[in-house]
Amino acid sequence: MATFKAIRIDKAEKGTTVALTQFDEAELMEGDVTVRVEWSTLNYKDGLAVTGKAPVVRRFPMIAGVDFAGIVEQSSNPQWKPGDKVICNGWGLGETHLGAYAEKARVKGDWLVRLPEGISAREAMAIGTAGYTAMLSVLALEKHGLTPASGPIIVTGAAGGVGSVAIAVLSKLGYHVIASTGRPSEADYLKGLGAAEIIDRSELSGPAKPLAKERWAGGIDSVGSTALANVLSMTKYCGAVAACGLAAGMDLPTSVAPFILRGVCLLGIDSVMCPIEQRKIAWSRLAMDLDHRKLADITHEIGLDQVIAAGAKILAGQVRGRIVVKIL
Ligand code: NDP
Repeated sequence: MATFKAIRIDKAEKGTTVALTQFDEAELMEGDVTVRVEWSTLNYKDGLAVTGKAPVVRRFPMIAGVDFAGIVEQSSNPQWKPGDKVICNGWGLGETHLGAYAEKARVKGDWLVRLPEGISAREAMAIGTAGYTAMLSVLALEKHGLTPASGPIIVTGAAGGVGSVAIAVLSKLGYHVIASTGRPSEADYLKGLGAAEIIDRSELSGPAKPLAKERWAGGIDSVGSTALANVLSMTKYCGAVAACGLAAGMDLPTSVAPFILRGVCLLGIDSVMCPIEQRKIAWSRLAMDLDHRKLADITHEIGLDQVIAAGAKILAGQVRGRIVVKIL
């Protein structure tokens, strides 16, 4: 019986169990491409899955992990051949389809993106779903028409994964970036990434006024709840805010005032089912617009055996930047 190492989640009488164990290759799900996984990463959603804190996993047994980079081992899909270097994220990996924290993955070839020239598999996973979501958010702001000349951009959850990559990319593109963080001790880190100003998250944590003083042309928000409500109420006329996360909560206690009195747009960002063409654009822009040195500065490497403990830390807001997971 062929087996491989994997982080397996099973349903228990109460909640779920999680363990690093051997997984039977015969249990792999349907798919026309088998990939030797080299690198994965730890996202907020992975934290929810491995701790069982939210019902992210919807099929058992499950292999956790929502994204990987690796090398095609076998393929009956004409787009891919053995040896091709690929990235996969979202599409239900680690939720409804066996995921990334494993030496092997079998997926649909249509889910894969070719590793862009100029970035390694390790760098791709240092970026991971969080960094790719940051880029989807930047693309949405650009599509709305924002440029560095429009005014400052606020990034909430600044020291987290989405926030760190968003700051690095926006500053490289020439934006004046305002970083909102609850960790003042990370000020030097955020400035190193390119933040021009740092504000304490408490400025965005009280009940939002319908409209407040206009402070920024746009924002990338990975926090949700009152933070997003305050960001909207402080966004300039005809500005836009990309909403991609819920680190502080799923609610949005706002009013229609920013939309109907200032023409502010709220742009929804979903990374999971994002169409493949948009993914290719995001990954190629990441290869161009993210400084390799800054990416290295925000990246911390762990092994598969450290993922479960790190999952609890990310939920506690104790992870800075990105965690890359070495699989092989
Ligand atoms: P991280 O945990 O790395 O970052 C989240 C950051 O949010 C923290 O570092 C912290 O930043 C801030 N934060 C945490 N808790 C609170 C709180 N209670 N109140 C205010 N701020 C808080 O997670 P990621 O960056 O990986 O993900 C961020 C969010 O984006 C998550 O909700 C995740 O589910 C979502 N996401 C959504 C995707 C999509 O497809 N739409 C894809 C990827 C992620 P600081 O310490 O600087 O204040």
